[in-house]
Amino acid sequence: IADADTIDETNLQRQITFTEADIGKNKALVMQGRLKQINSQTHITAIAEFLDEARLVELANAADIILDCSDNYPTRQAVNRAAVATRTPLVSAAAVGFDGQIAVYRPDLPDTPCYACLFDGEQASDGTCALFGVFSPLVGIIGTTQAAEALKVLTGIGTPSHGKLSTYNALSGKWQQYGVRHNPECPVCS
Ligand SMILES: [Zn+2]
Repeated sequence: IADADTIDETNLQRQITFTEADIGKNKALVMQGRLKQINSQTHITAIAEFLDEARLVELANAADIILDCSDNYPTRQAVNRAAVATRTPLVSAAAVGFDGQIAVYRPDLPDTPCYACLFDGEQASDGTCALFGVFSPLVGIIGTTQAAEALKVLTGIGTPSHGKLSTYNALSGKWQQYGVRHNPECPVCS
């Protein structure tokens, strides 16, 4: 778990590992402690820093899978570059307002799309949670779906979800799925 950010009161409605007593503390360290309380047998490394490209690649090399739970576009692109460079599976999820999306990327498999095949450098001005807010249950729906997809990749069960982008709107309650192809012009994976 890597995050240099500290817990803010406005995080508590959706970031359910944190409590009022944690405000001002580092997110990665508090989450590590909370998860250890749930299961003391787990091995969790908390990294209380923002990762640069070199460190991302180093950690991606040591990982079986990456879960991108970040809240900004430059980080998502950097995490994707590290996943592609090290051929590490990546489960990317995002939620803002009433809308969430999730996609599984498999740079370890041939001819599969990466995050940059879908979202190019032009779309840098994404709406942040701070600006638009987040419907609190949405983060649970998207986050647990992301966890399910990660467990599917790690254990090899179920229908593979790579090559698709799934979106969910909490107001309509509808999921939609879009096919996504590898972009032969992609600056990251081609
Ligand atoms: Zn690509």
